[in-house]
Amino acid sequence: MLPTIGYATHSSTSKLEPFNFWRRDVGPNDVLMEILYCGICHSDIHQARGEWNNSTYPMVPGHEVVGRVTEVGSKVSRFKAGDLVGAGCFVDTCRTCPSCKEGLEQFCEKHVVFSYNCVEMDGKTPTYGGYSNQMVVDENYVLRISPKLDLAGAAPLLCAGITTYSPLKQYNVKPGDKVGVVGLGGLGHMGVKLAAAMGANVTVFSTSSTKQPDAKRLGAKGFVLSTDAAAMKAAANSYSLIIDTVSAPHDLNGYLNALRRDGTLVIVGVPVEPAAIEAFPLIVGRRRLAGSMIGGIRETQEMLDFCAERNITSDVEVIAIQDVETAYERTVKSDVRYRFVIDMKTL
Ligand code: NAP
Ligand code: ZN
Ligand code: ZN
Repeated sequence: MLPTIGYATHSSTSKLEPFNFWRRDVGPNDVLMEILYCGICHSDIHQARGEWNNSTYPMVPGHEVVGRVTEVGSKVSRFKAGDLVGAGCFVDTCRTCPSCKEGLEQFCEKHVVFSYNCVEMDGKTPTYGGYSNQMVVDENYVLRISPKLDLAGAAPLLCAGITTYSPLKQYNVKPGDKVGVVGLGGLGHMGVKLAAAMGANVTVFSTSSTKQPDAKRLGAKGFVLSTDAAAMKAAANSYSLIIDTVSAPHDLNGYLNALRRDGTLVIVGVPVEPAAIEAFPLIVGRRRLAGSMIGGIRETQEMLDFCAERNITSDVEVIAIQDVETAYERTVKSDVRYRFVIDMKTL
């Protein structure tokens, strides 16, 4: 077993603190990586604080992991020591169900081994995430990171990037399409960059008027202050796709109204409380309400390559791991420009 150090929380109300634990030895199909950077996703906060009622402790969060390979197993063919690699939200699945076979492992019908707050395929060994110095991952669940990309900025691609890329592809966004992004946080700002890179005409819906200049710089053409009822009304019947990344309870009906006929509102944010949906905004214009969850391994690699070709990374604030609690507080207050990333040298 490999002695490993990370930061863990021991209950929904405790602070993250140094934690020693063991990772498995490098098996024939495994890649051992030294973790260089790990992004802080709002899902880390939801789970560390027990907001999804599925938390197990001790919990080492972190699923936006970028590192360097230090060792590979005897059967590993795609990676070698020194390669830059990433790991995202899951590290194993059954590999045989229809979803796994289609490359949609995030919807594995047997068991998705999430990178932390979960158990391995054996049903008992706990998984620990990327707020740590090293990780062992089966090579089939390891992503390749281009050395052309800024590594700290590349870490958030592993969750925020793929979670917004996947619905843009799923709904076939084309140049000129009007796309809305709700919430300018970690996911939202990647949604803006990626949609703009696909040629879409992007509008940000935000509760923070101070983010308007950033929305433009990130590639948005429009900005709607979602607390301004008149501005929301003026946005009606305009968008073919809206991606909602908001982490807290909020009204969805205004965004349904902002869709054109046959348009789709895709929910990716996970507020803890349910939303009330009115029938009229859905039936008028036969609009659609949908969801999306991260992306499969193949699509994640496609997104990473798309970003490498266009030099797209996340706008990050790099922090020392000792400042993780402050970063959580600021994220919850929507005061993140636009992703906190932990520099693992500070561990
Ligand atoms: P984040 O960086 O905190 O961004 C969320 C944004 O939502 C904030 O910046 C803010 O944007 C807006 N917001 C926050 N509170 C709000 C409120 N009360 N009313 C309206 N808007 C509010 O979070 P993130 O890391 O991007 O994650 C966003 C959500 O997606 C989380 O719930 C996370 O768990 C979920 N998630 C889902 C997936 C998936 O696969 N579906 C993957 C990753 C994360 P403005 O200041 O612009 O209003
Ligand atoms: Zn995430
Ligand atoms: Zn499966």
